[in-house]
Amino acid sequence: MTMPKPISFANLPTNIEKLERLSNELGKNIYIKRDDQTGIEISGNKIRKLEFAVGEAISNGCDYLITCGGIQSNHARATAAVAAKLGLGAYLVLRGSRDNDIEGNYFLNKMLGAKIKFVTSEEYKDNRAEIMNDIRSQLKKKGHKAYIIPEGASNGVGSLGYYRAMEEILEQEKNMGIKFDAIAMAVGSGGTYAGLYYGNHINKNPATIYGFNVTANREHFQIVVEDLLKEISKYTGKEISVQRKDIDIIDGYVGLGYALSQSKEIDFIHHLARLEGLILDPVYTGKAMFGLVEEIKKGRLDEHNNILFIHTGGLFGWNMEQRGLLK
Ligand SMILES: *Cc1c(COP(=O)(O)O)cnc(C)c1O
Repeated sequence: MTMPKPISFANLPTNIEKLERLSNELGKNIYIKRDDQTGIEISGNKIRKLEFAVGEAISNGCDYLITCGGIQSNHARATAAVAAKLGLGAYLVLRGSRDNDIEGNYFLNKMLGAKIKFVTSEEYKDNRAEIMNDIRSQLKKKGHKAYIIPEGASNGVGSLGYYRAMEEILEQEKNMGIKFDAIAMAVGSGGTYAGLYYGNHINKNPATIYGFNVTANREHFQIVVEDLLKEISKYTGKEISVQRKDIDIIDGYVGLGYALSQSKEIDFIHHLARLEGLILDPVYTGKAMFGLVEEIKKGRLDEHNNILFIHTGGLFGWNMEQRGLLK
């Protein structure tokens, strides 16, 4: 497989900022990479992955993008925005129902003109690939060539975006005169983690890459990441050998479940907002940063001094229920 030429959507490089007061609270140097600022409509971590996935779609001559996610999926919204920008059609398979308030990402999907098919949780879990294939066949009958992007654009081609992000970080380290000895982020479908891990490894960089899973568990994502690393290497032609135990997924912060919040997480987001003027999302970055701070307090990251957290975006994902937990 050849590495597609990425299409440039994101405002890059994204800034790396020090969180001064959080660093003082924890006695560590905590930095944040603002991948939430890759754009506005076209924003968050999915954009880096879409640069490569959509690059492949265009080079295959496709005129439609099909993808899937929850009703408030940041990835689905990013795909809808990218499609509109390029004059392509977008078809989103969303887990949920029309009864939900039109807000956040769902509102933006409507605004951006994406076609939407709602499916139940069971259909999503068991049949989403089939459902997307059916949509592709229907579009073909109408003369369209559609490209299917899997959940979160977390496949080999999408993950290349975070392989490249790792190279961006290494360049920024040089310019800033800092070495990050740990890099941490939320893990939802695994592509962000896998790309950074691959980039770290292939560049022989000594940082430890920590992922905080916001759904499923450590074992699940170790397998997912292992597979993604193999897929990435099909594009780069360079395999890396990794032991499953060295894939550092830290479990224990899923809380009530994917996209469900509890007060302690919302309280933490609230605290950080006032401490740093920085707003995290409740589904991914809020849980992951909460986890990172807890683990630092427990001493698990004692060997690290300069810790970089990737702000992967997600602000449009706040829903009424989570907002209701704000004090
Ligand atoms: C999708 C998403 C993640 C998780 O990234 P994956 O590559 O799917 O693991 C993290 N943060 C936000 C805001 C996201 O939308």
